[in-house]
Amino acid sequence: MKFYNINNHKEIINFEQALKTGLGKNQGLFFPNFIPKINFQNIEKILDMDFINRSSYIISLFIKNEISLENLTKNIYKAFNFPLKLINITSNISCLELFHGPTLSFKDFGVRFMSQMLNYFNKQEKMIILTATSGDTGAAVAHAFYNIDNIEVIILYPKNKISILQEKLFCTLGKNIKTISIDGNFDDCQNLIKKSFEDITLRKKLILNSANSINISRLIAQICYYFEVFSQILPDNRSNVIISVPSGNFGNLTAGLIAKSMGLPIKKFIAATNSNDTVPRYLKSGIWNPQKTIATASNAMDVSCPNNWPRIIELFQINNWNLNQLSSQSISDYVTEQSILKLYNKYNYITEPHSAIAYHALQVKIKNKEAFGIFLGTAHPAKFQEYVNKILKITIKLPNKLTHYIKKENLSYNFPNNFSYLKSFLINNYIQ
Ligand SMILES: *Cc1c(COP(=O)(O)O)cnc(C)c1O
Repeated sequence: MKFYNINNHKEIINFEQALKTGLGKNQGLFFPNFIPKINFQNIEKILDMDFINRSSYIISLFIKNEISLENLTKNIYKAFNFPLKLINITSNISCLELFHGPTLSFKDFGVRFMSQMLNYFNKQEKMIILTATSGDTGAAVAHAFYNIDNIEVIILYPKNKISILQEKLFCTLGKNIKTISIDGNFDDCQNLIKKSFEDITLRKKLILNSANSINISRLIAQICYYFEVFSQILPDNRSNVIISVPSGNFGNLTAGLIAKSMGLPIKKFIAATNSNDTVPRYLKSGIWNPQKTIATASNAMDVSCPNNWPRIIELFQINNWNLNQLSSQSISDYVTEQSILKLYNKYNYITEPHSAIAYHALQVKIKNKEAFGIFLGTAHPAKFQEYVNKILKITIKLPNKLTHYIKKENLSYNFPNNFSYLKSFLINNYIQ
């Protein structure tokens, strides 16, 4: 299959190129030339397959002209090497827990698939993944690319602005993973990355990639777990499924809408956001009016200009869907906290702010008793340990995966917020 640039339909490239470049001309996002359809009988058939084989089949529909099903399956086996759990909260509300991967967030799915694909397609050249993080992405990228041949990873993050736990999770690996704390904020880090991509010397001598969430490979990977929902629920419940997605950059929701467009009979989606409510306001008023980003308890969703939104518009147009079929809800920090309390006190379920937002939005919208509601669990509560402990007055145990890193030494460099330091670092370390 080929992929086109949404902003310039003449720019058409294959999967390998889209994987390696990320963004097209005019900052355009790449989008599949067509959405492969799976008919009803075949959907039933693939729901009986195991997660790895089913996911390989689904992804092969997009990229089988560039990689054989056999090779793809081997890579998916390495990428998706952790379980997904569907936990029943009530008789008609469940949480799909996507956070049992190495860095305890759903981002492990997309980033680990991307790293396996880059490893597969990039045999000779040395590629540098240069990325900025405010927490979750950095950890997922560091672990996904650790020890992958011919790939060097450099992660920038704002000094003293992420939790010690988060920092230890990705700054203690070493080998091909270099981490740099910057005297500045997250925007400063992103700015330094942007300058590196624009620098003529660096561009001539290095192959740079950013691994951020606009990369089409990350989205394709995320389609797979929507099918897993259907395989884990009873056939009787399959015709009335509503899925609530905690949304920031809207990559997760885009993947869900692609799954629906392929033929998976998801009845309705709810886009759940925190107070950064550009999309809920847009769906009500038809006016796109992003406001200044607000810091909230669900910080991975503090986004006011969601960069995957153009893909969602494209999907609605292609399918002749009406935007008013998409439900949405913006949830305040106060209500988020109340929802965490309710889930614990009433159902004995411990959750964290992002997933709690999706739960609350689902509860507001699920009126019909026949409906079967799913909210996506995007992070492990231990990742937001301090916050959750304070609200619930408990002490969450850290999974062994995390305690292991707490003891290790932080290997980060520290640079001032000045491009010349990063540039010299890149030249001295990676240009012979
Ligand atoms: C990144 C992230 C989100 C938002 O996902 P998008 O695909 O950007 O909408 C939600 N929850 C958590 C825990 C995240 O890390």
